Amino acid sequence: MTRASTRPRAGQDYRTTYTDLLEALSQPDCAVCRLVNQAVRQHVDVFLYEQLLVIERRDEIRAARGFCSIHGAMLVGGHGRMLGAATLHQDIINDALRQIDRAMNAPTVRLKRIFPPALRAMLRNVARAVRPRRMCPLCEYERRQEGVILRALVNDINDPALRGAFERSAGLCLPHFQMAVNLPDAPAGNQARLVELERAILAGLKAELDEYLSRRNASYESEPMGAEADAPLRAVRLVSGRVVHSDGRM
Ligand SMILES: [Zn+2]
Ligand SMILES: [Zn+2]
Repeated sequence: MTRASTRPRAGQDYRTTYTDLLEALSQPDCAVCRLVNQAVRQHVDVFLYEQLLVIERRDEIRAARGFCSIHGAMLVGGHGRMLGAATLHQDIINDALRQIDRAMNAPTVRLKRIFPPALRAMLRNVARAVRPRRMCPLCEYERRQEGVILRALVNDINDPALRGAFERSAGLCLPHFQMAVNLPDAPAGNQARLVELERAILAGLKAELDEYLSRRNASYESEPMGAEADAPLRAVRLVSGRVVHSDGRM
């Protein structure tokens, strides 16, 4: 296990470490969601400040027709990012325009003069021309980080400190739990231990939801709620996570 925290540098994967995991497990909600979110946010900054002029990166983003809506929204916070976002999107839109013009063959011809079958063929060409040809590069980065973080968690789950921190944590969101159980080439005994621990956390949350619902449905509504008061919110976050799957950019 790695005990030192390593911050990302340009072009490097964010290395989630044992200490990062311990720290994230002491915070609310899924620790993997939290670490992935931090890694992607840092990566966006690294990209906008250090890699904007790297031709390969620009090619990837053009081919993806930009970023998915979730990652695209991360680009527009702060003045420094606006300049990077403008440069990138000028490039993407310029390329999309070029492809649309090519698909239309003669964009200046009046469209209503084209016969319907030819018009439909042209529309198909335009749709094909603007379709992303690869997945969102930040989704791709995010997926890689999920793998790195989940593998670290599974590998070290029998470490007493990490296991204890996991037991006291909110558990993994269901999407990350599913990924952890499906990790190829991971030690199956460790994965089974994780299933055991996650199951206990899910059962605890289910009991809190039961308590919440029975209090809400009871006639004595004035009795104050205990820790179960925010169980619905925690349950929504645990079930959905923040996992960004491909939005059709594959
Ligand atoms: Zn998660
Ligand atoms: Zn994305």
